[in-house]
Amino acid sequence: MSWSRSEPIMQIENLEKHYPLSGGLLSGEVGRVKAVDGISFDIHEGETFGIVGESGCGKSTAATSMIRLEEPTGGQVRYKGKDITEYDSTELKRFRRNVQMIFQDPDSSFDPRMSIGDAVAEPLIVQGMSDRKKREAIVADLLERVGLSASDMARYPHEFSGGQKQRIGLARALAVNPDVIVADEPVSALDVSIQSEILQLMKELQEAFNLTIIVISHNLGVIREICDRVAVMYLGEFVEVANSEELFNDPQHPYTRALLSAIPTPDPRERGLGVELKGDVPDPSAPPSGCRFHTRCPEVIPPENLELSQSVWRDVLHFRQRVRDSTLNLDSVAETAAVEEGIDTDDIDGDISVSDVPAETVITQLRRENNLPTELADSTANETLDKAFDQLARGDLEGAKETLEESFMTVCERDAPVLTEREGRQVSCHLHDDVTTDGSMLEADQPVSD
Ligand code: ADP
Ligand code: MG
Repeated sequence: MSWSRSEPIMQIENLEKHYPLSGGLLSGEVGRVKAVDGISFDIHEGETFGIVGESGCGKSTAATSMIRLEEPTGGQVRYKGKDITEYDSTELKRFRRNVQMIFQDPDSSFDPRMSIGDAVAEPLIVQGMSDRKKREAIVADLLERVGLSASDMARYPHEFSGGQKQRIGLARALAVNPDVIVADEPVSALDVSIQSEILQLMKELQEAFNLTIIVISHNLGVIREICDRVAVMYLGEFVEVANSEELFNDPQHPYTRALLSAIPTPDPRERGLGVELKGDVPDPSAPPSGCRFHTRCPEVIPPENLELSQSVWRDVLHFRQRVRDSTLNLDSVAETAAVEEGIDTDDIDGDISVSDVPAETVITQLRRENNLPTELADSTANETLDKAFDQLARGDLEGAKETLEESFMTVCERDAPVLTEREGRQVSCHLHDDVTTDGSMLEADQPVSD
């Protein structure tokens, strides 16, 4: 093989895994879950690379498709220079040995009827090591290396704690002397008190066995403890890739900042300074347009011609979203407005609608519900909102939708940012565009503040 140690041991390029979304019998494919939607990174021998992001963002799918436990639907993975999708069966078998995976739940990875010794020896048997004495010697050595004792060999899985089982899982992965370990949430199922111990053990084993490690976690604390480099993943994509230290000291992407501020810190002065991440990860079969994070981003860039503080702008965006997806229910607005204003609703036939309540009252209620003041600093924004409120008070939801869409369109929603390299780190965010699409300059790194 022509691979040299100075080259990356693994190169992942535009890796993609889409799952077909079927509409049931006969209706065929109605969409695609874009679980992993084009991620790229290199990893060098001996390095620990982390992938972090909320549940459902595609981390596990990234792991299983980069080692072909599942077939990727696009992109390339090279291991020691060679494309793993071109492997013949012998090469694939060797690859499966060289790259071992560790899973979250240590319980499900052990057969309760098989002794620990047999479990750890199993991969050796698969590999064709028929000498029992030799196998036992290796197993004994491995168990001690992971902090257990050789005599544990004869015991059964239920006799061990979760942390011990994860140690045994590591021993079993190491039995075949792999180059790479892919650990998917390796400590998430464990008590916080023993998480560090296992991470520490992984570090020691990495040194001792010259391992390359890919760690996946939803927990930035875990990533911080063991990774050299980190990719932050959101809805199937990487939004920021940086050295661990740089990422934690100086996060560049608003999503990274939001994740970081969610880490509990012992120092109360640092607590709660950051922004809170609201809502769930959107549906990966219909990701938001433009920047996929814009629906939850606390730093969405306001339209170029509007002078709005970030907090007011957020409220305007929320309001627009409620109108857009019709979660704003005009009937219930009318009803609350009627109650608030003490309007006698007894003589109204059937349900109350906006036409039963004076427009002014409806608008007051709309402003109140959506946290929108009567006067915004920006006159254009004021006019737009007034127009939309009038339309809503007349029951014209569609008209209001159009009004809001036209005036409150942002670059974050319109254009997908590209993961670009700057000073050794990669970020995909319009706050980092030097020049916006209409040619005006943006002050990078300076979200609009109050
Ligand atoms: P994570 O590990 O970050 O929690 P996953 O990789 O498990 O995320 O899932 C990413 C997305 O892909 C989720 O929306 C999940 O529902 C979806 N998904 C995972 N596996 C499948 C599958 N076999 N078929 C369809 N969708 C899937
Ligand atoms: Mg997962």
